Amino acid sequence: MLSKRLRGLVAYKTETTPAPVKLSSNELPFELPTSLRKEVSKELERAHLNRYPDPHSEELKGVLSDFFGVNPRNLLLGNGSDELIYYLSIAVGEFEQGIYTPVPTFPMYGISAALLGRPKLEVPLQADFDIDLDASLELLESRECTLAFFSYPNNPTANLFSRWKIERLRDRGLFSVIDEAYYHYSNDTFEKEALVREDTVVLRTLSKIGLAGIRIGIMIGKEEVVAEIDKLRLPFNITMPSQVIAKVVLTKGRDFIEESVSKILKEREKLWRALNVLEGVEVFPSEANFLLFRTHIDADRVHRELIKEGVLVRDVSHLPGLKNCLRVSVGREEENELFLEKLSLVMKKLL
Ligand SMILES: *Cc1c(COP(=O)(O)O)cnc(C)c1O
Repeated sequence: MLSKRLRGLVAYKTETTPAPVKLSSNELPFELPTSLRKEVSKELERAHLNRYPDPHSEELKGVLSDFFGVNPRNLLLGNGSDELIYYLSIAVGEFEQGIYTPVPTFPMYGISAALLGRPKLEVPLQADFDIDLDASLELLESRECTLAFFSYPNNPTANLFSRWKIERLRDRGLFSVIDEAYYHYSNDTFEKEALVREDTVVLRTLSKIGLAGIRIGIMIGKEEVVAEIDKLRLPFNITMPSQVIAKVVLTKGRDFIEESVSKILKEREKLWRALNVLEGVEVFPSEANFLLFRTHIDADRVHRELIKEGVLVRDVSHLPGLKNCLRVSVGREEENELFLEKLSLVMKKLL
């Protein structure tokens, strides 16, 4: 009785291999400071867990509106931006109309499309990981399409696509979702346009700045667009503990977030330089909290050897255009050093 759409679907592979040094999911590697954890506990103790949470997350939206500098009416919250990606795939266009993505990119766009039975219009990136505009326009010429997802910066290639190319595609009539999950590490945004246009929204998340565990995704868009998409949101999609924790951390933990981001940016630079001079490795530029690199030998083997050494990175070598590529999250200083040490060991062994 289960649908063909569902049977054809492959479940999203989350990396669960245990490893002492986990650099595979682009999380913030720092724990919240003890004082902040105490504040969180204090607030959680007071929470009425027998009651439903605020369905509109009013107080949290107030805090987020201050954090992002936009009006609360321009915000829609999801149980992670994953949920918002799913909502947008339902809300924009008709199901027989395609969803455009440059690939490789974040898998959730394709999964949402497949689940809804929407055609996937996927165009391989150029060798420099930018959008292939000509190939994209040509495909859009022949196929009906209403929605596009742009991971900006792109996961897993770590670069920002050319802004003008996104704009050209949007001008072809594509509602454009700009997924700025790594905004704090790139500092580039479509926010201004999202606030005034009917065909552009921006996605943010707390997952990459220290709160992956509480699943808070944020859509920023024009008030009318937010109000429409809000109609299909599940009533209590943000749990009470998540609302409470996010409020505390985004009011009392701003310094922690800011310092963490700047530490990661410094570490990114150091890690990039080290990989850049490592024999048998080619590292690509990054505007995010992770680095993509190519090994001159079988990346699959490098990945497995690294696990044996206690270091987990993400194997992305099966993706189109990413032969022998691995993705490593920027970790704490000592984690990055250990990763570099183990990687050069493995490379010496296998080269
Ligand atoms: C990590 C990531 C997300 C995260 O989504 P959440 O569901 O908010 O954790 C979204 N988009 C991209 C491109 C990502 O890399």
